[in-house]
Amino acid sequence: MPGARMPKPRTGLYPGTFDPITAGHYDIVRRAARMVDHLIIGVASNAGKGPLFQVEERVALIQDCLSAYPIEGATVEVRPFGTLLVDFARDVEADVIVRGLRAVSDFEYEFEMAMMNKRLNDQIETAFLMASEAYQFTSSRFVKEIGRLGGDISSLVPPLVRERLLGKIQTLTK
Ligand code: ADP
Repeated sequence: MPGARMPKPRTGLYPGTFDPITAGHYDIVRRAARMVDHLIIGVASNAGKGPLFQVEERVALIQDCLSAYPIEGATVEVRPFGTLLVDFARDVEADVIVRGLRAVSDFEYEFEMAMMNKRLNDQIETAFLMASEAYQFTSSRFVKEIGRLGGDISSLVPPLVRERLLGKIQTLTK
């Protein structure tokens, strides 16, 4: 139609520590990509949490996963950030922040954080995607613990992540 304007592409921001990215995170990425045109995976550098992987390693690992296991529906980009989430969301012009919600563990924390972010910037919405049944108990923390103790993590993380995590654990225990 002459004069019709193209709608502005919708950008979603999925922030997290991703230390490392798990199959549960990946499932949220896949699902979020069906709801926006462009998805930014924001990797928080928050050294306070004492991550196992440096932020650059976490970013590279997610990028490698995206190449190995492509996501359909949206373009996906990975970016590190070390600022307040709402400031980062504004800088990247995100329309919506996406978070995953596991039944038992996440609600209170996620609710508080969404309320606080709303108070800091009421222009940005947070949308929650329910964790899939298969990944209700999948967390980066468990994956690291099980990996350290020699358990089988192959159903909890993409194969590439398993490889890199076991490699990391080996170098640290040498
Ligand atoms: P953060 O340090 O911000 O909690 P995480 O990397 O632990 O970062 O998680 C990022 C987001 O992904 C959070 O919203 C978290 O609730 C969600 N998430 C984590 N594990 C899962 C899972 N298994 N299924 C769905 N969402 C998940």
